[in-house]
Parts: sequence; structure tokens; C-alpha cells
Amino acid sequence: ITPATTEPGHNLTTSVQQIDARHHLHPFTDTAALNRRGARVMVRGEGVYLWDSEGNKILDGMAGLWCVNLGYGRRELIDAAKTQLEELPYYNNFFQTTTAPAAVLAQEIASVTPGDLNHIFFANSGSEAVDTLMRMIRHYWTLEGQPQKTLLISRDNAYHGSTIGGTSLGGMTPMHRQGGPFLPDIEHIRQPYWYGEGDGLSEAEFGLKAAAALEERILQLGPERVAAFVGEPIQGAGGVIMPPAGYWQEIQRICRKYDILLAADEVICGFGRTGSWFGSQTLGIEPDLMSMAKGLSSGYMPISAVAVGDRVASSLIEKGGEFYHGFTYSGHPVAAAVAIANIRTMKQEKIVEYVADDIGPYFQQRLRQILAEHPLVGHIEGIGLIAGIALVKDRARRTFFAETGAAGQICRDHCFENNLIMRAVGDRMVLSPPLIISRDEVDELCQKVRTCFDLTLKSVREQGL
Ligand code: PMP
Repeated sequence: ITPATTEPGHNLTTSVQQIDARHHLHPFTDTAALNRRGARVMVRGEGVYLWDSEGNKILDGMAGLWCVNLGYGRRELIDAAKTQLEELPYYNNFFQTTTAPAAVLAQEIASVTPGDLNHIFFANSGSEAVDTLMRMIRHYWTLEGQPQKTLLISRDNAYHGSTIGGTSLGGMTPMHRQGGPFLPDIEHIRQPYWYGEGDGLSEAEFGLKAAAALEERILQLGPERVAAFVGEPIQGAGGVIMPPAGYWQEIQRICRKYDILLAADEVICGFGRTGSWFGSQTLGIEPDLMSMAKGLSSGYMPISAVAVGDRVASSLIEKGGEFYHGFTYSGHPVAAAVAIANIRTMKQEKIVEYVADDIGPYFQQRLRQILAEHPLVGHIEGIGLIAGIALVKDRARRTFFAETGAAGQICRDHCFENNLIMRAVGDRMVLSPPLIISRDEVDELCQKVRTCFDLTLKSVREQGL
């Protein structure tokens, strides 16, 4: 698509920027600030690279928004969409009907989910999948004769989407300040962020302490009122927070003890990111339900899903009657066809094994090597192809910058100018490259990270932060 008119004195970049500034409200964006600067216009992608309208070749260290797991320009996915668009571009799954792509995708997802998570409900975005989880969990308890079990427990700094449901369940304070009131019957406990909030404990001790917060809250609220605990195996949008070993085992033990469902939000961790099909497998979690999106289609089409284990599925199916929930595009045939091609390609190319045994460990090791002793780097955490790096004022004393986010933003801007996409979450820099990244590309990525960190250090010192 090119703009209909390019006004005199404007090229593609400035024409698109002008239209964008006039009409486009961007998600999670300060529109006034963006309009002063002008949005970067992305035009093409191939593998781990993007090109903008000015001809810059950009290394995408974020796989889009944690989603383009197979990289850009994959023929298998493009052809699947084209073929399905020609055959049947749309039909719904409401009217006693189904389509082959929806049915086969449910089977494909069930073939890679752990345990008995074999029943699949489709939606379009991670947020919708999370909202589906929330309604399904509460409905389940009503079907089980415990309608008072409505409370959902999540964590501070969790991200579960941007709908009213997702925002309420998430633990993002800036989001909670806008557009409320939010849903009742949602509780937040502390996050397992050892490096930043470890209370001087060892990682293992802190993991148990952070998990104990769940038991304390359950007892305060009354276990008979608590429906579920929901968490990301590794918090992504919160800055890539790896829970200490043992944390999830303890969370799971507590959930079982009080008969509380456990739901894993796998929107980022799912589909190979951590070196298993799902983060739950990497972290040793056996959830009752899982939400997934992003990597399900490598982001080529919007599609998400909730995988439901036997316990909840059999209740819904055998006792539930009609479940009054769903979306026009639940199981959209084109999105489903792309997701099938995505999962099959991942299987054929052994992408999960590649992340687990080869490129994941290589990436983690190279990143730590190249940033070793860097004065800005307090801590690096991550596994597979996801990593979070804490920027600090003083690494020896573990002191953070007085104004959170300033250093992160400087770093993000240096990355931007140096054609590297790396995201800042406060003062944590996060990486989540496409899973097909090669060793050479990892080397290039790490080298660019180093360059940008050096530039950031210089700017931070100049600005006296
Ligand atoms: N859950 C998690 C864990 C996420 O990371 C995200 C998106 N980053 C969502 C839910 C929401 O997904 P979406 O933006 O597709 O609605």
C-alpha cells in the first residue's frame, strides 16, 4: 500500500508519517511525542531483519512484539494464507459448523501441549485468550457447585493484556491509572523479581518467600473463594523476570493444597521461546489451563487460543450446556491455516530443539560474555531466546538509577539509531529475537547490544544520571 497522494516536497516516509500523525492513534504510545518525531515506516522483512522506508536494514531483536518466531518472509506461512483465502476466506464456528483449519489446528496444538491440555478454544489476541480464561475458570466453579469461587490471583508487574479483563488481571500500575474502574475479585501478590526485590535473600530463599505470598493471600481471602492463580511462566512485558528455581513448584503445591486452578499465560513463553514448546515445560509447571497467542502463528495472522485440561474441559462439556462466549473470528480459517503451517514448520525444522540445545544456550552465553563487567549491567536473566538485562547506576552496590526509565529510554534510542530493535521496560532492556536466528546473527546482535550499551553509558554519564 502506498499513500494515494504524495504531496510536493514529501517522499514515502514523510507522506506516511504525515497521514499517520493526522489519523493514527498508536497503541501504548505518547501520540504527541511520536508525532513530533515521526514514526519509523517499516516496509519489508526477511529472516531476522526488517527494512524501513529509508532503506535502513534493522536487526529485530524483539521478533516483532515477541511473536515472529519463524522470522519474516516464510513461504510456508504465506502460501497457507493465500491458499486458504482462495478456498474459504471466512466462516464462523458458531452455527453448528466447523472448518478443516479450525479442527486441524486444535489437533496440532493438542499435539504439542503438555499433559491433558487437549481441548482448544480459539480467540484472536492474547487479551481475548486471557479474558476467555477468566470467564471459563469462573464458569467452571459455578458448574462444580462453587459459584462463590470467583477470586483470581495474579501478580504485580504481570502483563495479561489490554482489555478490561486483561488490564484488571495484569499488575501494571500505569495501566491501572487509566480507564478504570476495573474488575472486582482480582488480587495481586508480589512478583518473584529476585534481582530487584530480593530482600537480601538467596535466590532460592526468595523464590519460596515470593510463593508464600500466595498462601498468605489465599488464607486471608478464604480458599473457598479463590478460583485460580494466573501467571506468566516468565514475566515478559514486565521486563523478562525469571522466577527463582523452586518458585513455580511451590506455587503449584499451594494451588493443589487449596484446590485452586493454575493457569499459565503462555502468550510470550509459548511456541519455543524458552526451549520447550511451552514455558510451563521449561519451568516445571503443570497448569490446568493455558492461554497462547503470538508465536502460535509467528504473528503472521492474529490468532490466540486457550488450551483446557481434562478437569475443566469435561465439566464444561458434560455439565455446561451452552457456553455463552466466543468471537466472530474464533478459529478464523485463514489464521488457523497459517498457524497449522507454523506449527508444522516448527516440527519439521526442529525449532524447539534448536532453541533448547543450540542457539538458546549460545545466545545466553554470548550475551553474558559480551556484557561481562559492563558498568551499566547489573544482572542478566533469561533462558532460550528471551533475556532481560538490568541497567544499574552502580553494579557493585546494586544501586538503580534514581529516576526509573531514563537510562532505559536512552538505551532504546541508541538501539533505534543503530538499527537494532531492543525494547526498554523501565531500566530493563529485553531481547526476544526470532527463533530461527543463526549463530552469526546472534554474534551481530550481541555486538550491536554492546555498542549501544557503550553509547548509553556515555550518555548517562554526560547527563549525570
Ligand atoms: N498475555 C501476555 C503474557 C502477553 O505478553 C500479552 C501481550 N504482550 C498478552 C497477554 C496480550 O496479548 P495481545 O496484545 O495479543 O492482546
